[in-house]
Amino acid sequence: MTDFEKMLMECVESRQAFERMVIANDERTGLEVSVVMHDTTLGPALGGTRWHPFSTRVEALVDNQRLAKDMTYKLALAVGEDTELAQAGVSFGGGKAVIQGRPTQDKDKRKDQLRVYAALINSLAGKFVTSVDVGTSVQDMITMKEVTKWVAGLPKEMGGSGDPSPATAQGVAWGMRACLEAMFDTDSFQGKIVAIQGIAGKVGSILARDLACQGAILIGSGGVNQSAAQEIATELGAKLVPPDEIYEQQCDVFAPCALGGTLNDNTIPRLKCRIIAGGANNQLWEPTRHAAMLRDRGILHAPAFWINAGGVINVAHELHPEGYSGERAAADVKKIYHRGKTIIDISRKEKVPPYAVAVRLAEDRIREAKRTSFPTTRK
Ligand code: NAD
Repeated sequence: MTDFEKMLMECVESRQAFERMVIANDERTGLEVSVVMHDTTLGPALGGTRWHPFSTRVEALVDNQRLAKDMTYKLALAVGEDTELAQAGVSFGGGKAVIQGRPTQDKDKRKDQLRVYAALINSLAGKFVTSVDVGTSVQDMITMKEVTKWVAGLPKEMGGSGDPSPATAQGVAWGMRACLEAMFDTDSFQGKIVAIQGIAGKVGSILARDLACQGAILIGSGGVNQSAAQEIATELGAKLVPPDEIYEQQCDVFAPCALGGTLNDNTIPRLKCRIIAGGANNQLWEPTRHAAMLRDRGILHAPAFWINAGGVINVAHELHPEGYSGERAAADVKKIYHRGKTIIDISRKEKVPPYAVAVRLAEDRIREAKRTSFPTTRK
């Protein structure tokens, strides 16, 4: 049996893992894509399209499933019943698509492949809605929009929500406030030391400017482009440290806003912070074990799929029946704060990590919706 066949067998045998997966290979254009709809109990599966040269097809599919499941949890929490979206009858399940291979820079070929992919999305009849992710661009979404209406993340000039990064950063700041209240009895950033990993990134830089305006003292680190990190550090009076030294900074809040997996056996013992709250996805290398390790060290960790949902909330608002409104979207992004307070309260009462609580709340919501047939927007 080939690896690919083994993978398919594993997928079939673990039926609980996701609801539906579609794999398509288009011979003419060379497009190779998988769409995973992890759970559509709450509504159509919403998730970005990642275009990336995975080393094997199996790796691409495994990653696709993991990312789709993250989206289910993220959206179950983010579009709770108290949100503007849910009150308008819109809520979402989780999904993700992966185009296997290096994104082609040949404009015509790229458009051709994206149109074939968009036609595939049409065949899913609204059960999957996609937007931008690593390797895809707003321009790609515009191309796909010519063929399918099940695309979000369009520019503001086209009635879309634009770049999601400001909303993500805004959501992280709201989540941080919930954490500050829990640890310091105040939601003020005045005089608080915040260490931002990835200070020059799209999310990191917006967050840094916002917190600096609110009186935070900043420490930052950057990636390969050190000059960009130096530039923003100078602008905001932040101390710039080498990438690996960010973990050892004495601070109130450590904000991972770069890569995933940075909280692990090597880094957790070095941390000198009270709170971890940042925009990066999948921060915990081994989620359950490392969440427990952080709790044992007395560090309050904000689970990524709770705190970095601002961007997807903003994108989801394109699907509001009355169209995108920045004000409505911002009101739902603010709910990240209230959701955080609930998660932290339960975690303290039950003496379990916030990560475990966030997973449970998301799963409970889906289970309850299955039980009561909560109406969805599936069309
Ligand atoms: P980005 O590429 O603009 O920023 C990442 C920054 O991190 C870059 O400046 C890069 O140079 C820097 N970096 C890379 N390695 C580093 C290292 N070892 N130490 C310090 N800095 C390093 O990406 P982004 O859009 O700002 O996203 C940041 C994170 O947030 C990612 O994990 C992303 O998946 C997640 N996220 C982003 C959004 C969004 O709306 N942009 C939404 C949800 C989650």
